[in-house]
Amino acid sequence: KAEADIKKMIDGNALVSMCLSRAGIDRMFGVVGIPVTSLANRAVALGVRFIAFHNEQSAGYAASAYGYLTGRPGVLLTVSGPGCVHGLAGLSNASANAWPMILISGSSDQSLAGRGDFQELDQIAAVKPFAKFSAKATDITEIPKSVFSAVDWAVSGRPGGTYLDLPTDVLHQSVDESEAERLIAEALNSRDKSLIENPRFDNSKIEKAVELLRSAQRPLIVFGKGAAYAKSEIELTKVVESTGIPFLPTPMGKGLISDKHELAATAARSLAIGKCDVALVVGARLNWLLHFGQPPKWSKDVKFIIVDVCEEEIELRKPFLGILGDAKEVLGLIHKQIKDDPFCLGKNHPWIEAVRSKANDNVAKMEVQLSKVVVPFNFLTPMKIIRDAILGVGSPAPVVVSEGANTMDVGRSVLVQTEPRTRLDAGTWGTMGVGLGYCIAAAVASPDRLVVAVEGDSGFGFSAMEVETLVRYQLPVVVIVFNNGGVYGGDRRNPEEITGPFKDDPAPTSFVPGAAYHILIEAFGGKGYLAGTPDELKSALAESFSARKPAVINVTIDPYAGAESGRMQHMN
Ligand code: ADP
Repeated sequence: KAEADIKKMIDGNALVSMCLSRAGIDRMFGVVGIPVTSLANRAVALGVRFIAFHNEQSAGYAASAYGYLTGRPGVLLTVSGPGCVHGLAGLSNASANAWPMILISGSSDQSLAGRGDFQELDQIAAVKPFAKFSAKATDITEIPKSVFSAVDWAVSGRPGGTYLDLPTDVLHQSVDESEAERLIAEALNSRDKSLIENPRFDNSKIEKAVELLRSAQRPLIVFGKGAAYAKSEIELTKVVESTGIPFLPTPMGKGLISDKHELAATAARSLAIGKCDVALVVGARLNWLLHFGQPPKWSKDVKFIIVDVCEEEIELRKPFLGILGDAKEVLGLIHKQIKDDPFCLGKNHPWIEAVRSKANDNVAKMEVQLSKVVVPFNFLTPMKIIRDAILGVGSPAPVVVSEGANTMDVGRSVLVQTEPRTRLDAGTWGTMGVGLGYCIAAAVASPDRLVVAVEGDSGFGFSAMEVETLVRYQLPVVVIVFNNGGVYGGDRRNPEEITGPFKDDPAPTSFVPGAAYHILIEAFGGKGYLAGTPDELKSALAESFSARKPAVINVTIDPYAGAESGRMQHMN
């Protein structure tokens, strides 16, 4: 046979990579093995960056955060059975946070189903509670449509997790190149456009929203990570600044408008939500983080205007006015409407004065606390030093990753966010163990930014081995571990209450005291620092921030500083 007649064959692994690449996927996170190693290699050959982790849980957290930061689905690749199960952590976290992500798992041979094949699991059933869409390609010809659907569903409506199942036998099937191209073209043509369009909304609702804001005595604008995901910062700033209405971000909404803005109500949170009469809530759920929008934290008469891409969310909360739409688009229209007939509360408006004076008081009180130098470190002394070092970096501001009970609580009120999408934390689910995965995602998504994790030793320990991943890819990530020797701070039990044959075991909350986490990263060639005094911490921060190389700063914290369960002790 003449060489020209030999058709180039494309196997399932190669076809999946081609489709992902055509769908705009240029980064993947995962752990390779049977049967997906070749898929990862094929993707790399097509220009996709594959970040290989030690554990699918951490890789999945990375994929979820990557989806949030970029607006394109983060992809997690896993092996079958146990790999898929480990990946559920990331998938469920993505869905809980409303972030777009695709879990792609290999699965066992279809012809052996139910007979105990290697790593066999009904993965479609396993992902069901966590995926808004799932597809199993039962034949190579189904791959293109399955891939494009998984991508489109992840970003459609309220973003979330989707799942793609790739049986071993399908990955080993092949088609010739022209057939592969035909299948891809056919799937692209039949793509459901309605999935990726913004919902249509009623323009009269924009007028109504503006009227409500205009006639309010004590209006407030609340925004969350949905508004951040929508990249609505320009429109949001225009609405805030043209109306003079104070604003309150949720933890991950912080930075959409700088925390330093004079209309920031963060430091007067209780007053702002307790006294406002109209609240425009954009891309934030009235869930536990916002006290369900109910008394006693909120006034019983507050009129909520909710802007959300998810119809069920609006129906669930029963706001005074619900606007179904994309945050950026709706805020743009609200601003346009205001521009035609402007109003502005002004600095001397009683509501603005009340919020500002409360915020100033609280900031001043906090600064008094922060200015006390406490050694051995409490949480505040090192947090202030870290805050100042982060602010010293300037623009582009570092991405801050925060987790842990006290470390995250204190970090939320002390660390200052000046730019959008620069804070990643435990989120809607209060998920601990996300830190290293989020750091890697942030470094991959925003290569121009430094990434700084400020986390407890417990949060760090979930996925500490991923410091090797930081070193392997030479990512500009500085992980600061608040080391107080355990969950909440080591053994806080009353010795008289501990009896039984295992009474001499370490407490369930404690780790090895004085663990040398800084040495862990040095095993791989990264840089470690131990800091127990302000000077040691300042010098470690200065050196590691300017080096922009993987580093761990192990900060020794007094084990008796901070409270059990942070500010949520009543729930534990
Ligand atoms: P936070 O934790 O910051 O309060 P949540 O995750 O609870 O934020 O809420 C985010 C909300 O934003 C979700 O209800 C989600 O449906 C919504 N959302 C997601 N994308 C958009 C968008 N483009 N425009 C408006 N709302 C969005």
